[in-house]
Amino acid sequence: MTPCLYIHLAAMNLHFDNRFVRELPGDLSGKPHSRQTPGVCWAAIAPGPASHPTLLAHSPEVARLLDIGEEEVRSTAFLDAFSGNRLLPGMQPYASCYGGHQFGNWAGQLGDGRAIGLGEIINRNGQRLELQLKGAGATPYSRRADGRAVLRSSLREFLCSEAMHHLGIPTTRALSLITSGDGVQRDMLYDGNPAIEPGAILCRVAPSFLRFGHFEILAARGEHALLRRLVEFTLSRDFPGLRGDARFADWFRLVCERTATLVVEWLRVGFVHGVMNTDNMSILGLTIDYGPYGWVDNFDPGWTPNTTDAQWRRYCLGQQPDIARWNLQRLAEALAPVAPEQAALDAGLAHFDATLQARLGDMLAAKFGWLAWQQGDAALVNDIFELMQRCEVDMTEFFRALANVAQPAPDVETLRSAFYRDALYQNHRELFADWLARYAARLAQQDDTDAARRERMNRVNPRFVLRNYLAQQAIEAATQQDTSWLEKLLAAARRPYDDCHLPELIAKRPDWALNKPGCSMLSCSS
Ligand code: AMP
Ligand code: MG
Repeated sequence: MTPCLYIHLAAMNLHFDNRFVRELPGDLSGKPHSRQTPGVCWAAIAPGPASHPTLLAHSPEVARLLDIGEEEVRSTAFLDAFSGNRLLPGMQPYASCYGGHQFGNWAGQLGDGRAIGLGEIINRNGQRLELQLKGAGATPYSRRADGRAVLRSSLREFLCSEAMHHLGIPTTRALSLITSGDGVQRDMLYDGNPAIEPGAILCRVAPSFLRFGHFEILAARGEHALLRRLVEFTLSRDFPGLRGDARFADWFRLVCERTATLVVEWLRVGFVHGVMNTDNMSILGLTIDYGPYGWVDNFDPGWTPNTTDAQWRRYCLGQQPDIARWNLQRLAEALAPVAPEQAALDAGLAHFDATLQARLGDMLAAKFGWLAWQQGDAALVNDIFELMQRCEVDMTEFFRALANVAQPAPDVETLRSAFYRDALYQNHRELFADWLARYAARLAQQDDTDAARRERMNRVNPRFVLRNYLAQQAIEAATQQDTSWLEKLLAAARRPYDDCHLPELIAKRPDWALNKPGCSMLSCSS
């Protein structure tokens, strides 16, 4: 055996230790028909098949995290395993049972309808990571749907989870994007025009895929003993650092803290999740389930990319903190029957409020280049946000431009590149100049230099974000077997704060994208 081949075989020898299916009760029948599964946390189900799997993309960082070598990624064993066609030794596939509040209403049992867990690996650093295929076939939780996913939504999730990670924002990760070779029928715009689209399978990776909804379903069913078991399991597997009598209270407090931190991070980069139902809320505070998400182009707190939510805008950019708290309240209600005392839950929610305020202040100060948040800063922030909204100013471009203004007399021309319409710039430049003068006065209060401030601001204000129109170009090319856009975007997503990007990757949204499906309009159809 050559040394190369030896490494090849050893690397795919992933070490599985499947605590979720080992320690919690499951439905072992293995049957895929849709059904309620009371009394269990999961149902055994095999993934696949995919008729002609082709690897479109992978994340080298995630492969490394899993101790999978680059040459292994190109092997048939990899393609078979991560398309759902063959299980690796140690894999125990299952779909987990959860419920959720969707758009404000209790929706009952939902569950992994198009996700299949493969098991938990322990990597060489002792880190535990769950592997999950998305789009690998029907499960007991698929209801009337097919358990499959289309290339466009899988590609968007693949790129965005990696982009989020490199922005420094907690997220599930993506190992691989594989087209199945099978067609999947979808009515993309829900307008009665279904079409066959290419199917794809994503392998995603996270320390835990537990959602608020996993706890909610057990509470809704009155299965309090199982709920207690799931809480104990989560504490033991996912929060091993918490010990002692107060560990339940500490845990809920931490969930609240991480959730607050997460939404503040989304606001920092202008990210709108789009579907913040409680089944899409990670117990670890990760961004999870990338569907009709988007990055705001022209700044607007009321903006959402999700056409399904266009009327109520429940999940628009500016609502995300309130919705996060609403979701935590639903989680607190679910946990109440097994909480040692209600005060632990109340304290957690109060901690959410405090964390949100503190983190918002820190985040905004950093975005504007202030060394610390001061009381009077709120007026400066509110005034510029109001102006930006009124004058259709691009959020990403604005903050990179703001980093370039020079003290002590900033030139309003520096901001011009952030406007979509020059007429709006011309008509409002005086207002922006007045604001810049106030901003300059604020900067003058701190011991700083232009260069140092620019450097700090450019570390928190991304140069590259995965605008919808960019992802859409990668989708259209990949549908024609051209992965060059996908590769370009993944490379750019790896260095979002750098100034080195191709002009076409950092351009503001072009006019043609304003009303194009996939660019401005995204439904939940995926
Ligand atoms: P989502 O909108 O992706 O958060 O999904 C909400 C629920 O619908 C979850 O239980 C999903 O598993 C399920 N679901 C969404 N799409 C499909 C599909 N194509 N096949 C089966 N279940 C699905
Ligand atoms: Mg979901």
